[in-house]
Amino acid sequence: MNKYKYKQIHNVIFAGAGPGDPELITLKTVRHLGEAEVVITDRLVSEEILETFVNPRALILHAGKQRRKEGSTPQHIINELLVDYALQGKKVVRLKGGDVSVFSNLLDELQALNKYGITYEIIPGITAACGAAAYAGIPLTARNHAKAVRFLTLHKNEIIQPAYWKELAQTEDTLVFYMSGDTTGELVKQLLEHQISPDKYIAVVEQATTPFQKVFSTKIHRYELEFGNRNYTSPTLIIVGKVAALHEELRWKTESKTEDELYFKSVTKNKQEEVRA
Ligand code: SAH
Repeated sequence: MNKYKYKQIHNVIFAGAGPGDPELITLKTVRHLGEAEVVITDRLVSEEILETFVNPRALILHAGKQRRKEGSTPQHIINELLVDYALQGKKVVRLKGGDVSVFSNLLDELQALNKYGITYEIIPGITAACGAAAYAGIPLTARNHAKAVRFLTLHKNEIIQPAYWKELAQTEDTLVFYMSGDTTGELVKQLLEHQISPDKYIAVVEQATTPFQKVFSTKIHRYELEFGNRNYTSPTLIIVGKVAALHEELRWKTESKTEDELYFKSVTKNKQEEVRA
C-alpha cells in the first residue's frame, strides 16, 4: 500500500480518538498526532492516548466540555484557539472523543475556520455507540431484533414531546442515548408511560471499552427496582431495545471489579488556565 496515497496538507485536522481503548484510534489519526504542533483535546480523550501518540514537542490544550459547568471551555474560545494557531501556520489537531461529528460542536468549529478560509480535514472515529455495543456484546441491529438504530440524547434541559416519546416507546428500532446518565430514571419512566413493550431491555454501559467498563442490563420494567438508585460513573451510554437482552448471552469482556474508578480524569483548574493563557 502506498502510505501517502491519501495524504493531503491541511491546516487543521479534526479527528476522533475513539471511545476509550487506545487501540480503537485510527492509523490516520495516529499519524496526524505524531506530526502535530498543537493538539486541542477534550475530556473524553484519555491521558494514555495523549501520552502514547502525540508528538512530544506538541502543545496540548485541554478544552473539554464538562457535565458540570466548571472546567468547560466556552465554544467561542475553542474556535479562537483553532483559528489563532492555524493562522500562525501551526499544524493543529482538534481531537475529540468517539467520532468528531456525533454530539459534538463540529459545525461551529468548521464554520469558524471557513470564515478565515482555513483548510481542514475530518477523520472519523469509533463513536461510543459502536464501541459500547461491541464491548458489551450487543449487536445493534441484530436480525429479528431491530431493523434500525437511532442515536439520541436526553440531556437535562432536553424537552421531548409526548408524541415523540410514544414513537420512541413503540418503535422496533434500537435506541441509543448519549449524555443521558443523569436522566436514565426519567427516560425509563417516559418509555414505560408510553407503553414500551415488556420484552424490551435496557443496558447502561459505563466507561465503555475502558478497563473500568461496567454494564447494567435488565428488562426495562425492572430497571427502577434493580438500578434505580445507582449514580452512574461518567461517561455512560444507554441502549434500549430487544438487542439489549443479548448482552447476557453474548458478553465477552470481563467486568471491572473496581469501585467506580474514573478512567477519564476531569479537566483541572491548571489545565484550564493553560487554555486561557
Ligand atoms: N463524539 C462522541 C460523543 C460526545 S457526547 C462520540 O462519538 O462518542 C458525550 C457522550 O458520549 C457521553 O455523555 C456518553 O453518553 C457518550 N460516551 C462517550 N464515550 C463513552 C464511553 N467510553 N462510554 C460510555 N459512553 C461514552
